[in-house]
Amino acid sequence: MRVKRHKNHRRILRFFRITFGVQEPYHVLVDGTFLTHALQQRIYVKEQLPKMLEGRSTPMVTNCVLEELRALGERALGAAIIAKGYYRLKCGHETPIVAAKCICQQIGQSNERRLLVATQDPELLATLRAVPGVPLIRLHGPVPQLEEPSKASRGAAEAKEKQKRTCANWERPKLPELKAKEVKAKALAEKPKKLRKKKGVNPLSCKKSKKKGPKGTQGAPVHAPPAPGKRVRSRRMARPQDKSEAELNS
Ligand SMILES: [Zn+2]
Repeated sequence: MRVKRHKNHRRILRFFRITFGVQEPYHVLVDGTFLTHALQQRIYVKEQLPKMLEGRSTPMVTNCVLEELRALGERALGAAIIAKGYYRLKCGHETPIVAAKCICQQIGQSNERRLLVATQDPELLATLRAVPGVPLIRLHGPVPQLEEPSKASRGAAEAKEKQKRTCANWERPKLPELKAKEVKAKALAEKPKKLRKKKGVNPLSCKKSKKKGPKGTQGAPVHAPPAPGKRVRSRRMARPQDKSEAELNS
């Protein structure tokens, strides 16, 4: 199960990296709902995020998120203390606004800062799903999970792919030239190639070999005389004089 989850996370992250340029170190904007939920489940967010994303990651909060947690008083004291230790993203709100709104403003229309958002707020999740290129993190019980890319993200990715396939405006004036080149290449390819003259059989392969006798015996006597004192049994191996005697006998 865990292996499958990691595989899914990797696939989703690859999608966001390739189409929207979301890459390490991951900047994760965390809101109050996520922090309180993590505290209830006894999850150490700073430790779990790099494990889940398999890379360096920095949890961040905005001033507005921190102020909202502080405003909740004792109910969210632990979360406020944790949030205080996180990197503070400058939102520029001098008087704090609702945290969800502040986060939406940080993301903007196209998530130019390539932020990831970790939240348990269903309304905020729904709003962020409409923005292409925002990886969303949620807690399913004690398990942090990366959401599948939203429809908006997928649509934007498809549009980008389409744009890649068609030629850009600056390319259009160059097109006639390109077309002429293409036609020329095609004509060249269609031209019948010059046929090579067929050569006859390789004359060297037909030549009769000049070698006499078996290999390696040139110059050496075929039948070496047997060593003196050794009896000759085989008629084949017999010396010439023996041979003549044998013939006489027969
Ligand atoms: Zn703010």
